[in-house]
Amino acid sequence: MSEMKLKIVHMYPDLLNLYGDRGNIECLRRRLLWRGIGAEVISCTCEDEGFSLEDTDIVFLGGGSDREQKIVCSRLLEHRDELKAFAENGGTIIAVCGGYQLLGRYYRLEDETIEGLGILDIYTEQGKTRLIGNIVLETELAGTVVGFENHGGRTFIGPHKPLGRVLYGNGNDENSGCEGVVYKNVIATYLHGPLLPKNPRLCDYILTNALKRKYPDMSGLTELDDSLENKANEYIVNRFVNKQSNKT
Ligand code: GLN
Repeated sequence: MSEMKLKIVHMYPDLLNLYGDRGNIECLRRRLLWRGIGAEVISCTCEDEGFSLEDTDIVFLGGGSDREQKIVCSRLLEHRDELKAFAENGGTIIAVCGGYQLLGRYYRLEDETIEGLGILDIYTEQGKTRLIGNIVLETELAGTVVGFENHGGRTFIGPHKPLGRVLYGNGNDENSGCEGVVYKNVIATYLHGPLLPKNPRLCDYILTNALKRKYPDMSGLTELDDSLENKANEYIVNRFVNKQSNKT
């Protein structure tokens, strides 16, 4: 087991990298290395000819502006079948905000529609205002998850399972109280922040699933000292959720 290693593909870091989404890649990598597990990170930019998901364990897609999403979308559609098969076969995909929207069927803007990959049976429509601010979720997978959202799109997830219930903030849309989607090993969310350094439990949930898919006999991850990370997470919960409930 000492030879364990994961291959992480960062898709379009040149265009999809709002609010330090790249930090999620660093967090995945560091939490593997701290446990003596190897991490190979491949960046696939719009300049590259293409990419292959052979031997890939984790695909990461960050957030981007509508303009950047349009550029990325045509490149992504060339790989629709490969990405879909990867997700259906239990490959891990983490998609944040603009990346999340592109996993769905479409993102409808005022005067045009961006076609998505259709990996998730969801769709997004541009709203009249932007939903911006800190956000706190209660999740089954990783307890309380904190982050920051900034999106014009409202995402409707139909029968899909959300990542969490919104305790503070907006989430997928203004009304459902739900945030994100979990489908097989696909985790899609509006949470920037970046997401994983602030939520180490979620990072380890993702790493455990990816490692177990590749090494079915692995026994689980060793514990790390997450006291600093947990403090950052608790600070946000106390500042927004507890303060809010004290007011009422
Ligand atoms: N452009 C998309 C929206 O505004 C996604 C933004 C983002 O990734 N932060 O909804």
